[in-house]
Amino acid sequence: MNKGVIFNIQRYSINDGPGIRTIVFFKGCSMRCAWCENPESIAFKPQIAFHKKKCIDCGSCQEVCPKGVVDIERKNRFDWGKCDNCGTCVDDCSAEALEMIGREMTVDEIMDEVKKDEAFYKKSGGGVTISGGEATSQFEFLENLLKSLKAEGYHVVIETNGLIEWNKLKKIAPNVDIFYFDIKGIDADHHRQNTNVDNAVILKTADKLLKNNYHVVFRIPIIPGMNDSPEDISALDKFLETIGTKEIHLLPFHRFGEDKIEIIQSKQKSLEIPSMNRTELEDIKKKFQYFNGIIVVGGE
Ligand code: SF4
Ligand code: SF4
Repeated sequence: MNKGVIFNIQRYSINDGPGIRTIVFFKGCSMRCAWCENPESIAFKPQIAFHKKKCIDCGSCQEVCPKGVVDIERKNRFDWGKCDNCGTCVDDCSAEALEMIGREMTVDEIMDEVKKDEAFYKKSGGGVTISGGEATSQFEFLENLLKSLKAEGYHVVIETNGLIEWNKLKKIAPNVDIFYFDIKGIDADHHRQNTNVDNAVILKTADKLLKNNYHVVFRIPIIPGMNDSPEDISALDKFLETIGTKEIHLLPFHRFGEDKIEIIQSKQKSLEIPSMNRTELEDIKKKFQYFNGIIVVGGE
């Protein structure tokens, strides 16, 4: 694969790894977490977002669309099933109410972006973080990008949902400095209900990474009513200690994704629960009795 689909490259980030970082967001995800904060990252292909509040009803998109997707008089003005993502309407919209999410990029194009901040990486001990979506879902492209990043000597963090067989992940693992590895629950049934996938591969790969001495930080999103029961936390507590985990980050549930659901016509449903505050997360932290490593509340 010569090109990957990328939906954002964020410069000067001080989150998601040490120092000042550039974050490369891969589009497309292998899971369907009910609480996803980046619903625009789920689909693998580029897609159009419509920002209704910015729209001035000029009708230009309707005029330029070659596929008859738009009728601004209609209640649902876009018939997205007909859209081929050509981008003509996006370029034409003077109000910037239409946005193309995701674009194909070569490794060289990404490297050109990343290199712009090389001086910051050196000064701050930063580097590049690969995020998503789920980057390992575009495996060959990721493999090539990691080789290029390492050839330049950059520090690399990858954020992953862990849904990848160890035999595959081990091919790219030597080119990663830190894995930020999501663990969303131990109970197989709950995990399937919450994310639409089984967690057997995830837990096995987590174990293998540690057994092979890679630097792994497990990140645990705490979602009220989904994975925060005493039984859920106890199972996490024991699993993490048993496999020899050194550090975990507890991440609070936020409703960041909900504003985006309408913009991209996502089928994701609102969870209709409030965002968590730090005190609630500190209370969850106290429930980890067995795990002996570092627990960061909030985390990166
Ligand atoms: S071109 Fe942009 S501002 Fe004009 S109707 Fe279409 S979306 Fe709205
Ligand atoms: S991206 Fe192209 S096909 Fe889709 S609505 Fe815009 S102009 Fe029409």
